[in-house]
Amino acid sequence: MFNNRITRILIVDGSSVTRALLMRTLREEIHDVEVVAVENGQQGLALLDKDKFDLITTSLMLPDMDGLALSRTVRSSKTHHYTPVIVVSGDADARLLREGFAAGVTDYFDKSLGYKAFGSFIMAFVQRNSGLSGHILFVEDSATAAAVTCKILEKHGLKVTHKTNAEDAYKLLEANDREANSLDNIDLVITDFYLLGDMTGGDLLHAMRAKLHYTQQELPVLVLTSSDDQQTQIEVFHAGANDFVTKPIIEEVMMARVRALMLIKHQYDALKQQTETMRWIAATDSLTGVRSKRYLVDNGEDYLKDSQHQPVWAMLIDIDHFKRINDTLGHITGDHVLAELGDKLNSSFADAMVVRFGGEEFCVLLANCPAEKALARAETLRYEIEHLRPSNIDITISIGLVSSLDHPRLTLTRFMSLADKALYAAKENGRNRVYVYTEEGPTESPWHGSSTSGQASTTT
Ligand code: GH3
Ligand code: MG
Ligand code: MG
Ligand code: MG
Repeated sequence: MFNNRITRILIVDGSSVTRALLMRTLREEIHDVEVVAVENGQQGLALLDKDKFDLITTSLMLPDMDGLALSRTVRSSKTHHYTPVIVVSGDADARLLREGFAAGVTDYFDKSLGYKAFGSFIMAFVQRNSGLSGHILFVEDSATAAAVTCKILEKHGLKVTHKTNAEDAYKLLEANDREANSLDNIDLVITDFYLLGDMTGGDLLHAMRAKLHYTQQELPVLVLTSSDDQQTQIEVFHAGANDFVTKPIIEEVMMARVRALMLIKHQYDALKQQTETMRWIAATDSLTGVRSKRYLVDNGEDYLKDSQHQPVWAMLIDIDHFKRINDTLGHITGDHVLAELGDKLNSSFADAMVVRFGGEEFCVLLANCPAEKALARAETLRYEIEHLRPSNIDITISIGLVSSLDHPRLTLTRFMSLADKALYAAKENGRNRVYVYTEEGPTESPWHGSSTSGQASTTT
C-alpha cells in the first residue's frame, strides 16, 4: 500500500545514553534504516541543511536550544518542511498540549514508558506516516499549471497521468479494468473545473458517477475550483465530488486532501480484496480445494437447469472402505488422501463443477456431455484413482452416474438422489466400479471389466 519508506532518521538528544538506546531501537524495528544521532540543535540543523532525512526525533530540552524551537525551524525550512518531528521526552505533556501544535510537532513519545514501548510506537508511527502511493489521473488544460502540480504529486511518490481535456480522461477511465488488480488502475482523479473542450470538469465528474457508476470510495474525485466560485463548489458536491481545492493551489492543502482521499481508496481496495477472499473461502473446501457443498447448494440448481448446459451429468464419487484408512493409518493420513483426490478431481475436471459432497464423497457436475464421453471420463477416473496411490496407499472409488438425457427436468435434489442410488449399486456389486442410473434403474457401465486406461482415455 505505502511504498515510500522511512529510510533516514535524525536523532537530536543531549544524552549519549538516550541517543544510543534510540538508535538501537530504530535499527531493530525499521528494516534498512540509516540513523544519525547528534547532541544538540545546532548540529542537527546543520545536518538538515546538508542531507535529507525522513524523520526527526528530538528531546524537549536540548543543550543549546528548546526542542520545540527546533521543530519550528524544521517546519519553516524548505527541505524538511514535511518531515515528521517526534518529541521523545519524559515530561513534555503539558507543554506539548499548549505549544506542540503551533510548533509543528507531529507526535510525542513519553520516555518513561521504556524502550520496548518506543519500538512499538515507532513501528505504528512509520506505518501511519509512510509516503503515499497510487496512480492519479490529473485533468488540467493549462500546461504551466499542470507542470507545477504534477511535480508536487510526483515528489510525494504518486504516479501521475496527465490529460489536457475531459474527453481524453473519460476515455481512459472507460478503459480502466476495475476487476483486475492492476497497478495501472486509477486511484484518484484530480480535475480542474474549467477545461477547454465541450466537457467541463463537472461533466467529467458527472459522467464518472452517473455513467460509469464509480462510487466515491471506488474512485475519489478532487475538483480544482477558483476560490471565489462558491456556486461551483456546491455544485461539484452534488455531482459526486469528494472534495475540492481552490486555485491557486497551496501544496500543503492539496496534499492533505490527496492523502485523505487516497486513504479512503486504499481502504476500499483492502475491503474489496477481503470480501473476495471470504467469498472464495466460503465457496471452497479448505482441505481438498474443490467447491464446498454451500457452493453446490447456491449454484447447482441453475447449473443443472441451464439450457446451454444440456445434457448435464452428475457423477457421485465415494472412496471405497475409507474408514479402514482412518482406522489403520490415522485421520491425518486420511486427510492427505482426501486432499490428493481433490487435486486430482480439480485437474481432471477443470471444465466442470467439482464439489466435496460429504466426508469422503465428491460430486462432479458435467455440462454439455454426451453419454459416451461421460461414461469414458468416469471410467478413466476410476482407473486412474486405482493407480494414483495417494500417500502411498492403494485406494479405489465407486462412482454413481446420472444424466439429464435419461432424467430431464429433475430438481437437483432428485437428480443427486438417483446418482446416489447408482453409487449404492456400485458398492453393493463389489465397489471399484461405475454404475449409471438409466431409465431402467441402476445399471453397470458397459465399460466395466474391459476397461484399460488406454481405451477410456482415448475418448476423454
Ligand atoms: P464404503 O464407502 O466403501 O462403503 O466404506 P467407507 O469406509 O468409505 O464408508 P463410510 O462412508 O461409512 O465411511 C466414511 C468415513 O470417512 C467415515 C468418516 O470418519 C471418514 N471421514 C469423513 N470425513 C473425513 C475427513 O475430513 N477426514 C478424514 N480423515 N476422514 C473423514
Ligand atoms: Mg460410504
Ligand atoms: Mg466410502
Ligand atoms: Mg461415504
